[in-house]
Amino acid sequence: MKLIKEKEHIGHKEIAEKTSDRLYSAAKAPWYGYIAFLFMYILASVLITIVSRSDGTMLIKNTKIPVSAFAGVFSSLSNICIIMLVLAYGTLGFVTSIIMLLLQFPIIITSILKHNIVGNIPGLFSNSFSIIVCIAIFVNKKRNEKLRIRMAEQAITDRLTGLPNRFACSELFRELMSSKTNFVVVSIDINNFKNINDTMGFDIGNKVLTGIAMLWKHIAESGTSGTNDFVARLSGDEFAIIIRDYKSDKDIENSIRKYESALSNKLYVDGYDLYITASFGYAEYPTDADNIDNLFTFADAAMTELKRANSSEHILRYSPDILKLERTLEIEHKIRTALEKDNVFFNLQPQYDMEHKLRGFEALARMKDENGDLVSPGEFIPVAEKVGLVDKVDDVVFRKSSEFFGELLRKYDLDIILSVNVSVRHLMKKDFIEEIKSILKNSNIPPKNLEIEITESIIIDSVDKALQVINAIEEMGVQIAIDDFGTGYSSLSYLNKFPANLLKIDKSFIDKMNDNDSSKQYVAAIIAIGHIMGFNVISEGVEEDEQISVLKEIGCDYIQGYIWGRPLQKEQAEQLVKDSITA
Ligand code: C2E
Ligand code: MG
Ligand code: MG
Repeated sequence: MKLIKEKEHIGHKEIAEKTSDRLYSAAKAPWYGYIAFLFMYILASVLITIVSRSDGTMLIKNTKIPVSAFAGVFSSLSNICIIMLVLAYGTLGFVTSIIMLLLQFPIIITSILKHNIVGNIPGLFSNSFSIIVCIAIFVNKKRNEKLRIRMAEQAITDRLTGLPNRFACSELFRELMSSKTNFVVVSIDINNFKNINDTMGFDIGNKVLTGIAMLWKHIAESGTSGTNDFVARLSGDEFAIIIRDYKSDKDIENSIRKYESALSNKLYVDGYDLYITASFGYAEYPTDADNIDNLFTFADAAMTELKRANSSEHILRYSPDILKLERTLEIEHKIRTALEKDNVFFNLQPQYDMEHKLRGFEALARMKDENGDLVSPGEFIPVAEKVGLVDKVDDVVFRKSSEFFGELLRKYDLDIILSVNVSVRHLMKKDFIEEIKSILKNSNIPPKNLEIEITESIIIDSVDKALQVINAIEEMGVQIAIDDFGTGYSSLSYLNKFPANLLKIDKSFIDKMNDNDSSKQYVAAIIAIGHIMGFNVISEGVEEDEQISVLKEIGCDYIQGYIWGRPLQKEQAEQLVKDSITA
């Protein structure tokens, strides 16, 4: 049990260190560089001794130069080697440098006292000075390293409860998947937590969350669940547990039971006895799903099913029939009909910088059914994805919106961006690159004025293929945005590889941003991470003035939301452009 406690503790710290390395692309310097610098240093030192003793001269361009004058050149070279060792090889380089410099003292002193080489006296000073410089560089480097790890630790820790957050989960998933470890994701939602918040206030709500977090943290750290567990708070009243080191399904259930029964003793907060229950839905990797997005979706689906059924049982494993088919079939039929009857079209939603200057528009798919009623894209896009029609929908939106946008650019001589959403299936089509080329050609949109929005899930599911396509898009000069950031579980190291220029923070985070300080800090952390990776950051779904002022304060670059502009029909979008020019 002690062992599990230690493993868990190291897990969180290790994740922080790895995150820090990834964010700052800290690559280890190669070992042969170490040997090369050491060798050059020794060589330079030997040469200094030889040339400083020489009485000879050299003829360069008719000028006689004493050979001993080259001692200065070799001395600079040896100093460069020493500094490179300390800079590139951490503690090893530092210790080597200090030993080398200290070894020089007896050699120099002997040369002065025994051989009377007075010219070596400055060497004593320069050696001492080099030691001071080495120590200064090393101490400074160590201090920076500590700061980096602390920043990474903050970015992966939930401010309210001190538990690891969603980013920490993504990092752990990456590790577990790459080491092919079986694990279980438990999605947890506190039952009726909204009631506690509404009736007793946020303060007590926060204390309840902290209390639950402490109970569960204790179980995980003490190992009483019998498995190796990692408890995280994702957001609001959503928690997750990642369970490892189990032998059977029974072990998994017993472990989750421990967390459930920890709540059965009433929670005492600020003089109130509170009876808390939670719903635990879970799914196993790789049995139930072999990618993180599905694993979470399935664990969530099981958790939601528990809530819907409102039964006294609070633990449920995912099974495929949980996902309902009926509605899917109905929507699929509507999509097919709309494609046939040309009832798929687009709206344009404006995006602005923080000074309210127009950045461009996002093209959003719209669809009417046979009765002329609009079907929400939130409903038909996921179905189109599931049944393999999304590339056809994308195609229509892409073609129609780029044609209109190209004309708009020419007519008003504008330099704004059209952002289009591309689904995984569409991106992976073998002629996708050709399609973009033909769209650029037909619409006459300069590549830099076109942006492709890719959701985080693509990045996780098919990294290598996606990277190839995305690199090809970038080479054309077309911009790339990562959509709905924060909702998936992509690892930071994957994101780091992507040549994106924009990170779009999902609306769900913006909605909660002003509920409490920890949610605000969470958005601030996403923005900071985006900036560290060299992306601009846009917030989606901004609806309130208060959100704008907070976003300005925490360094957000762009805004897209109802507050400054709803999705518009093309005529309205053109009017907005005209107004923005005359304003
Ligand atoms: P998304 O790409 O994240 O687009 C932003 C969504 O947020 C849009 O919803 C937009 O109308 C909505 N939104 C923006 N600001 C606000 C706000 O202040 N408040 C509220 N309540 N909502 C806001 P929409 O149009 O329903 O699109 C939903 C999703 O459908 C999109 O999310 C995108 O993932 C997908 N989608 C839309 N068009 C296409 C398309 O042409 N192709 C593909 N593959 N997916 C699309
Ligand atoms: Mg989008
Ligand atoms: Mg989005």
